[in-house]
Amino acid sequence: MVEMYRLPQDIKLTGEFPGPVSRALGQRRSAAVPASVASGMPVYAVDADGGVIVDADGNSWADLGSGIAVTSVGASAPKVVQAVQEAVAHFTHTCFMVTPYEGYVAVAEKLNELTPGNFEKRSVLFNSGAEAVENAVKIARAATGRNAVVVFDHAYHGRTNLTMALTAKAAPYKKGFGPFAPEIYRVPMSYPYRDEPTMDGKEAAQRTIDVIEKQIGSEYVAAIVLEPIQGEGGFIVPAEGFMPALVSWAREKGIVFIADEVQSGFCRTGKWFASEYEGVEPDLVTTAKGIAGGMPLSAVTGRAELFEKVQPGGLGGTYGGNPVSCAAALAAIETMQEWDLNARALRIEEIVTAKLTPLVEELDIVGDFRGRGAMLALEFVADSISKAPHPTAAKDVAAYCRDHGVLILTCGTYGNVVRLLPPLAMPDELLEQAMDILVAGIRDVA
Ligand SMILES: *Cc1c(COP(=O)(O)O)cnc(C)c1O
Repeated sequence: MVEMYRLPQDIKLTGEFPGPVSRALGQRRSAAVPASVASGMPVYAVDADGGVIVDADGNSWADLGSGIAVTSVGASAPKVVQAVQEAVAHFTHTCFMVTPYEGYVAVAEKLNELTPGNFEKRSVLFNSGAEAVENAVKIARAATGRNAVVVFDHAYHGRTNLTMALTAKAAPYKKGFGPFAPEIYRVPMSYPYRDEPTMDGKEAAQRTIDVIEKQIGSEYVAAIVLEPIQGEGGFIVPAEGFMPALVSWAREKGIVFIADEVQSGFCRTGKWFASEYEGVEPDLVTTAKGIAGGMPLSAVTGRAELFEKVQPGGLGGTYGGNPVSCAAALAAIETMQEWDLNARALRIEEIVTAKLTPLVEELDIVGDFRGRGAMLALEFVADSISKAPHPTAAKDVAAYCRDHGVLILTCGTYGNVVRLLPPLAMPDELLEQAMDILVAGIRDVA
């Protein structure tokens, strides 16, 4: 895969951290940008390609974050760059609601083809993941004539008013930002590491269904919104059978099942969509992040008949489905197919699993290793008996990695999860090197 790269796929640290150029930028930033927009790294990017990000002082970082699961094809994938350059030279914007263009239609066709389910589908394009989730809820409410929306413990769906309400974690996402949208109900998630060891997916689904029936009433529920693998909440993979049981119950009750695949979609887990692992065909799927090689774009895709209930003009937005973003999405999807990034995600899983699985047995603070494809995580605990969350361990591991040239993200309701989201375009050697640093960091912290 060497010819894929423009930049050397190496870790290179030049000395001071952050370097003088980034320090100066940091000072300008403090005077211009509020601290409420926080950055994980104090270094400023000037270039990125494949599995590396280069900062303003010439340091080259191994990227295990992909700008939060966005740059799966890399941050400057050749086809995406070329498509963007060509598209932008023609027109930056017309507004699809004013003068439509082919790129939007072509992306919708691709989404209808790639998302799970062989039924008739439609797609609408937006800008951000949160906007896609909001619109999926709008569609479900219009289609069912019901109000209630069911979401899960540990869920993350965005930062707008409705999606804050859908999101579980108070700080930093919701604290001080209420009042929140009404008619949102939170129910238990299947969390195999923390549920009773004997509880299987079906039983976990029944626990959830009981709460919905007793506390909400299924006849009031418009939609269930679920991340097939929870992202910000801690890369929680529900027990096998949980999702299918919920979906078939929802179908019986006329409830729209929305899979939020904003983080788990587009080859991230080794399939186009994580729902496919359990043969689930969501009524609506929300996508964003990995969809367009880093350009802002999101979508709601799903059953044609659900969209029929929404009045003309009811969905849209000035920028939704921007022509340059659409060109980028088509090129990114082509790149995913050409480079077979589903296979790459599984190869990444193989490499990472070989390096990290032994740590669960060996070290008491490593409670769990989980995930699928290139969406993998370690949960840190005080000890394996109490399973008390250990956020400082996760933070210290991330800091160790940073000191050794590896950019890594934490997550989880308790902040005790280190998550791996490498670009799928990262070469094996760099990933292996990054894993060796991560393992050394975990041993150091343990
Ligand atoms: C990131 C994320 C969102 C929100 O996407 P934005 O583009 O940040 O608005 C929604 N759902 C999930 C599952 C996400 O991971």
